[in-house]
Amino acid sequence: MQYQSTRGKAPVLAFDDVLLAGLASDGGLYIPQQWPAVSDKAQRRLAGLDYADLAFEIVLPFIGDVIPADKLRQMTRESYSSFTHPAVAPLKQLGPGQWLMELFHGPTLAFKDYALQLVGRLFDHVLAERGQQVTIVGATSGDTGSAAIEACRGRERIEIFILHPEGRVSEVQRRQMTAVADDNVHNIALQGTFDDCQDQVKAMFNDTGFREDLQLSAVNSINWARVMVQIAYYFAAAAALGAPGRSLGFSVPSGNFGNVYAGYAAKQMGLEVAQLIVATNANDILTRFFESGTMAMRGVAPTYSPSMDIQVSSNFERLLFDALGGDGRRVGETLQDFRKSGSFSLAADALAQLRGLFDAFRLDDAGTLAEMKAQLAASGEMLDPHSAIATAAAAACKRDDVEVMVSLATAHPAKFPAAVEAACGRTPPVPARLAAVLERAERCRTLPNDLAVLQSHIRETVTARRREGRAR
Ligand SMILES: *Cc1c(COP(=O)(O)O)cnc(C)c1O
Repeated sequence: MQYQSTRGKAPVLAFDDVLLAGLASDGGLYIPQQWPAVSDKAQRRLAGLDYADLAFEIVLPFIGDVIPADKLRQMTRESYSSFTHPAVAPLKQLGPGQWLMELFHGPTLAFKDYALQLVGRLFDHVLAERGQQVTIVGATSGDTGSAAIEACRGRERIEIFILHPEGRVSEVQRRQMTAVADDNVHNIALQGTFDDCQDQVKAMFNDTGFREDLQLSAVNSINWARVMVQIAYYFAAAAALGAPGRSLGFSVPSGNFGNVYAGYAAKQMGLEVAQLIVATNANDILTRFFESGTMAMRGVAPTYSPSMDIQVSSNFERLLFDALGGDGRRVGETLQDFRKSGSFSLAADALAQLRGLFDAFRLDDAGTLAEMKAQLAASGEMLDPHSAIATAAAAACKRDDVEVMVSLATAHPAKFPAAVEAACGRTPPVPARLAAVLERAERCRTLPNDLAVLQSHIRETVTARRREGRAR
């Protein structure tokens, strides 16, 4: 399998290069040159597999012979062995034709674990093959740093530094990052805001000498490997609910568009997806786009569903590539205009084509709390705010020809106790895994908002770790 850039100017690469590169050299995102097909017969066979083996079957054609199959199978098994539900991504019925897929049984209780647990292992494997090491540096507003840390902890070839704004993340979020004991995990509480954290990370990547010395890397949501691994749970839900031969819909709480794009990818591979609902909060750039055909940037307002508080949905570029007929040059031009002017529009026929598959829905904070309360009363399910936006969207938008609608529950309610209490009048039960985190000792370094100080801290830490590594 070979991968091409959405902007058409970067070299075509194999999976291992795409994994390590993240972004393509022309600024585009990598997509497979063709979609592997999963036949009806193969889909029927998936129903008998456990989640890890199903994920192996789905990702294998994307990786090809870059990683030996038995090694890949072992990695997928290890990735999901720490998940606390035997089904890994269990389904619950909410009502006639309406289902919920729980994607919060991994180490940090949110859906990003499903991809990152395997991606961390893929990184380590490819780095070992090449005799390389990387330093991953990232910024978090609190909700996503822990999944990256859990993915990288204990990986031999990776040092990970995550910056969070000191005092501005919740205690649960902070402890999920700082209570990790592995020596290759380095938390930095920055004396500044989340924007300062992001700016410092950007500045480090822009410092060529620093970037090369430390082999800086990122595992951010535009990495193809993350999208690829997410495709598995769409096939898992479909197989469990009687595919092939059922018309399926998915309602997906969306921010960067990586999750719902994986549903689109599943359709390209042969899954019978008749509808994809892009569910957003008040930061509704995607919903406005699907309504009007115009993608227009606006400011971001904080909501109860912080993981969807985004200004720009970076993975949308992958869908745009198809909407523009696979013309990389036009994708590049359109997105350069977008960066400059803050908006772009799609032609009416291209928009109509997308709307044949996609619907979009927005829900503000008041509506989110109302849905959480209503869903608890109706089905007994306590939802987190992100998942509630999906179930509300599924109820509002399900098309008549969709037999089975699956809402994706992307976070455990215990990650958002304040919102759950406001909606439901009580706090959610705390899973054992989260309770344990709250007891453990924290490891974190507080540093000023100063690039030179940050860089020398990272440099010294990595140098010392490599020296220890050689001594071992
Ligand atoms: C990241 C995240 C999302 C948004 O997913 P995208 O792939 O960025 O669209 C939704 N819900 C939760 C809980 C998340 O962590």
